Amino acid sequence: MRRIVIAGAGFGGLEAVTHLERMFRRDRDVDLLLLSDQNYLLFTPLLPQIASSYTDPRHIVQAVREIRGRKNFRFRRETVLAVDAPNRRLAVDSGSIDYDALILAPGSRTEFFNTPGAREYCWDYKSLQQAVELRERIIDLCEHADHTTDAAARRVLLTFVVIGGGYTGIELVTEMRDFLFGYAAKKYRGIDASEIRLIVLEALPDILRGIGPKLAAHARKRLHVTGIEVRTSTRVTRVQEGSVEINGNEILKAGAIIWTAGVRASELIESLPGQHDRIGRAVVNAQLQLEGHSEVFVIGDSAAAINAQEAPRVAPVAIEQGRVAARNIRHLWRSEPLESYEYASKGMLVSLGMNYAVVQIAGIQVSGYFAWLFWNAVHLYKLVGLKKQVQVAGDWLLGIIFPRDSAIVRQPRRCKLCEAVGRTPTGPGSSASAYRTASGSDI
Ligand SMILES: Cc1cc2nc3c(=O)[nH]c(=O)nc-3n(C[C@H](O)[C@H](O)[C@H](O)COP(=O)(O)OP(=O)(O)OC[C@H]3O[C@@H](n4cnc5c(N)ncnc54)[C@H](O)[C@@H]3O)c2cc1C
Repeated sequence: MRRIVIAGAGFGGLEAVTHLERMFRRDRDVDLLLLSDQNYLLFTPLLPQIASSYTDPRHIVQAVREIRGRKNFRFRRETVLAVDAPNRRLAVDSGSIDYDALILAPGSRTEFFNTPGAREYCWDYKSLQQAVELRERIIDLCEHADHTTDAAARRVLLTFVVIGGGYTGIELVTEMRDFLFGYAAKKYRGIDASEIRLIVLEALPDILRGIGPKLAAHARKRLHVTGIEVRTSTRVTRVQEGSVEINGNEILKAGAIIWTAGVRASELIESLPGQHDRIGRAVVNAQLQLEGHSEVFVIGDSAAAINAQEAPRVAPVAIEQGRVAARNIRHLWRSEPLESYEYASKGMLVSLGMNYAVVQIAGIQVSGYFAWLFWNAVHLYKLVGLKKQVQVAGDWLLGIIFPRDSAIVRQPRRCKLCEAVGRTPTGPGSSASAYRTASGSDI
């Protein structure tokens, strides 16, 4: 019996295992084992909609056992701790697992670029749990702002800073705008729309890198007219509880500071032998194999493939690489020539909140309402399973007809900012210095 292990049930890992299953379905000599620390696939393109209460968190995840259905592979919820490549063995939570071929697809984690205080005081936005926590933080800030009589304190509570002007940061800030201006400013009687401030800080001269400069400029204009401040060529040099230091000299106070500025390979990938790129990804050849270990493939956000063009860290790349790695295992075992992965852009779709998107596909650039409808159709189609498609379509329809939901359902964590105006709220890092408003009073 030969065993193929796939580590990580994200976009790349799931595509690889389903592809392998189709190829080896009739081969009783092959054991397919999928390992992942989460037992679901998270549909990250809809994660920004959790923060704005537009989509229900459970609707954007699909359990691996549902995806598997009657397919012939095993799944174990395990964290892979280390790869012993020379002995073809994985160290996992519950012991060790041997393999004959391995596909590593553990995704990425957030990179804070050693910015002082960023890890402690910024909201990270990569997992479902973080999305749910941020949603509740936003609502909790509104709850406190609603009954705060100090106008300066209220303005700080209602200031939201998103660090990073990539597609994640831009989609997130536009969702937050929809919730804050479209719902909070109407339902919270103590909040005036003019007090809400949404700011994007981007270190590069432009937002939405990867999209054409004309479309990026158009998106920026749209953000501006809908009340979002975008500051480019702006470097965050320090983060403290409730404040961001910009370019080493300006302090911006805020109720929530969200970091979407960079990603890095997981610790598992960084511990692999061989070369790594500047963000820790394993450098693999064009066939996606790890140097010196032809039976180990690395795909998706974890891989830096040696190709003519660097592939962006997006789901279609992980999916395509999952297919190539799966086929290359079969080629390897049949002593056939291996396939190379070549990046070909499938276009870029960025939602700018309700009713507006920018889309770039096959050289065509479109923006506006029809681009937004197209964005919705594509993402609905890409969701795995009819049940999830119906649930998300239902959420979107209800979101158009009814107001958003602002119930806080978890016990909030402590944070000084909101405690100062009343009750116990949510937030990372709660033990830093007291807050000072623009007028100098502690809040
Ligand atoms: C907020 C957000 C929005 C995004 N929006 C888009 C978008 O609109 N379009 C797009 O194309 N891309 C988008 N992306 C990027 C996209 O999600 C990634 O490029 C894609 O998920 C990478 O796929 P992957 O298979 O490499 O990793 P992932 O899909 O991240 O899967 C990795 C899996 O491995 C598991 N894992 C991690 N470490 C271990 C371990 N040690 N042991 C076992 N299991 C482990 C993880 O839990 C996860 O299940 C977005 C990402 C984020 C965070």
